[in-house]
Amino acid sequence: MIKMVRNYSYIIFGVAVIVFLVIAATILTNAVSKHEENNPSFTKNISWLNSPIDSINSITYKQKIKEKLVVIDPGHGGDDPGAIYPHNNTNSKLIEVSEKDFNLDISLKLYDLLKNSGIRVEMTRQDDRTLKLQDRGELANRLNASLFVSIHNDSYKISSRNGTTTYFNPSINAASYGITGKRAAQLVQKELVKELGTIDIGVRELTPKMMYSNTKMPIVLAEVAYISNDSDRQNLNTEKFRMKAAQGLYVGILNILNEMIAADGSPPTQP
Ligand SMILES: [Zn+2]
Repeated sequence: MIKMVRNYSYIIFGVAVIVFLVIAATILTNAVSKHEENNPSFTKNISWLNSPIDSINSITYKQKIKEKLVVIDPGHGGDDPGAIYPHNNTNSKLIEVSEKDFNLDISLKLYDLLKNSGIRVEMTRQDDRTLKLQDRGELANRLNASLFVSIHNDSYKISSRNGTTTYFNPSINAASYGITGKRAAQLVQKELVKELGTIDIGVRELTPKMMYSNTKMPIVLAEVAYISNDSDRQNLNTEKFRMKAAQGLYVGILNILNEMIAADGSPPTQP
């Protein structure tokens, strides 16, 4: 009789433990899925947040990411069309495409992707207006941006040239920003080429003319494709290609921010 009571108490204890574990697992699962609902594209792109251990690290990550601000700079605008097609056209009515329009459209798409992921983001222009290089850089400084991303498209006198190039500010070092300018450009270039399937021209140093010399933070300047090349220009004329450009830039920027955060001292767990 005593033995039987003891056996029952083991069973009751066992059942209590199982019930406790089920309740705990339910609460944990709900918490994780709620987080995913709030930020679908965020978790889609940072898949390593999905395991239970990493969801703890994601709290630190989310705090750190809120400290970062990305400034998107759609190249040219207003009186300055940037590259045009047909090239060297003196009559503005005969211009079929202007670089400034492609730059703005890709930038607005990129802005939405970042914003919807909970990344703090600002733009130097959101419409067709004239802006000096210096004013763009000063805005980024005033906002204390972590990263300055300028969106452009290329042009060359030989129309067969095509592909994607990303420029960087060589004076940016890892000690100050957690990433070198070159590494930041490489991360963006890799994702752009992967997404677009364009020729990979590689990364290059910004020339003094393109430098936005007053900006304090890393500059990444993407030349998405060549307006002077028939194939690239036809691609740029499609909504799909411009969306892919924004997507490539978006993933590249997330990777840059990840490396910056990892260098901050409390690195998130990487796969
Ligand atoms: Zn340009």
